[in-house]
Amino acid sequence: MSKNEDSLHWADQMARAIVEREQTEPKLREIVKEKGYIVYDEKTPSGSIHIGSGRGWVIHDAIAKALRDLGVKAKFVLSSDDMDPYDKANKDLPESFDQYLGMPFRNIPSPVQGYKSFADYYFKQVTEKFKDFGIQCELESTGERYIKGDFNSAIKTVLDNFDKIQAIYERFYGEKPNTLFFNPICEKCGKIGTTWAYEWDTVNEVLKYKCMKNHVKWAEGCGHEGEMSPYNGNGKLPWKVEWAAKWPTVGAACELAGKDHFTHGGSRSIAIAIADEIFDFPPPYPSTRKNIGKGYEFFTVGGKKMSTSKGAGIGFAEATEYAPAHILRYLLVSTRPHAVIDFDPVNKNDLILLHERFDKTERIYFGVEEASDSEVAKNKRIYELSHVGKIPSKMPIQIPFSFAAIIIQVVLDVDKAIELLKKLKHIPKDAEKHDLKELIERLKFAENWVKEFAPEQYVFKINEKVPDDVKAKIEPKQLECLFKVKAYLKEHDEVDEKLLYDQFYNIARSVDINPAELFRAAYYVLIGKEKGPKLANFIVTLGKEKVIELIEQL
Ligand SMILES: [Zn+2]
Repeated sequence: MSKNEDSLHWADQMARAIVEREQTEPKLREIVKEKGYIVYDEKTPSGSIHIGSGRGWVIHDAIAKALRDLGVKAKFVLSSDDMDPYDKANKDLPESFDQYLGMPFRNIPSPVQGYKSFADYYFKQVTEKFKDFGIQCELESTGERYIKGDFNSAIKTVLDNFDKIQAIYERFYGEKPNTLFFNPICEKCGKIGTTWAYEWDTVNEVLKYKCMKNHVKWAEGCGHEGEMSPYNGNGKLPWKVEWAAKWPTVGAACELAGKDHFTHGGSRSIAIAIADEIFDFPPPYPSTRKNIGKGYEFFTVGGKKMSTSKGAGIGFAEATEYAPAHILRYLLVSTRPHAVIDFDPVNKNDLILLHERFDKTERIYFGVEEASDSEVAKNKRIYELSHVGKIPSKMPIQIPFSFAAIIIQVVLDVDKAIELLKKLKHIPKDAEKHDLKELIERLKFAENWVKEFAPEQYVFKINEKVPDDVKAKIEPKQLECLFKVKAYLKEHDEVDEKLLYDQFYNIARSVDINPAELFRAAYYVLIGKEKGPKLANFIVTLGKEKVIELIEQL
């Protein structure tokens, strides 16, 4: 890789590698010519989907955008693996749902009214948020593809090549599976997880199967024995074989997955062998016929690994309660996929720091903040790839998140916060509603943050009256300082933050105490705590009248 390429954004590097690879694979080239580059991902809608999967969606969306920026046709396609069997009771649902264990998700009723099925409900729970995350993608259903017959040819290839696939499994796992690589949906009980296919008639293309009582631990079959065509949605390929079959069927040029899929002998390596040896089709980037490549790293929130199987961590759909979607997207786009992300918005200042990073990138993008050429290039590309919606022609108004949190606690209302910010000249007086869209969102988010999960040091309430226990804590010298501060405020119509700050030190020196003592006394009086926001700025924000009023109560 040349130095120039090394400085490219990771999505641009990947896009280039994808285009390069297509040149060496005639089968892929044919598909690309017809459909463009398909950046593909898939998800089983078994329940609430975790934020870890959201990392994959943002990565795939960014790669598809980077491909389009190279001037080629490309799109991100996400499929709902809704033919998969319900194989583990969903703890969020009543026990009555246990009767559906073993059935395909698309054939189970939705737990909530207004959705076509269980699969539809859980899939939409996340895809309805895609707009907020700026994820542009085409949604499809693996089940629909089975029904339409898209997989028919792959199914025949798999069943005809039973011995070869069996040998691949043996190579990886040391033993041969004794079942054909197809799971029929039992015609009697509708379960797909319980069936065992044991005979394939290659001439008549029918499959004999039995619905087994004890085939799997999590579901019980009905005992029905029958024969059926495996085509047009009568069943599905087992997961690892299906993964390989999807690549030529949908024409995937790129499909990343979490690194847990990329272990040797894991699902990706089996799928690669089947794609190469049975379908003679190159597995999608970052894999090649011979190399597995690398999966993306875990995305952890609050230190907990995001894993659906463990049922731990925050869901993708609820993540926006903890951080705004566009800020999460920025986090994912600005971080290389191979780096672990441990984001902790609760009881830490991660959210403040992330907003600061975002704001800096935005300022560099709009040329408001100076940076080296390479930093400018890097930040511009991150901003382009992470921006949700159309990039505005002028820089949005920026108020640091930490200050937004202070303002909202001073005035307790978003409209009043805007008024105060105008009065304090932090934003232009004539700013219109559409100029303030981002700011209003930020204030609302800050409001929720201080209410729900900000660390204690960022949370305060302005005293209406100075409580007696606070009065008792103020030492005579501190009191003297506060009176001097009050006198200073009274003397000055317009209080300048910088001058006020200097004044604190003059006052502390004049009564011979450490300035920290003055600050502590002031915080006690204003908010009943030892510490608080930077005092000079805080007093200006609060308004000197309120401060004078409180000091006068001492
Ligand atoms: Zn059955």
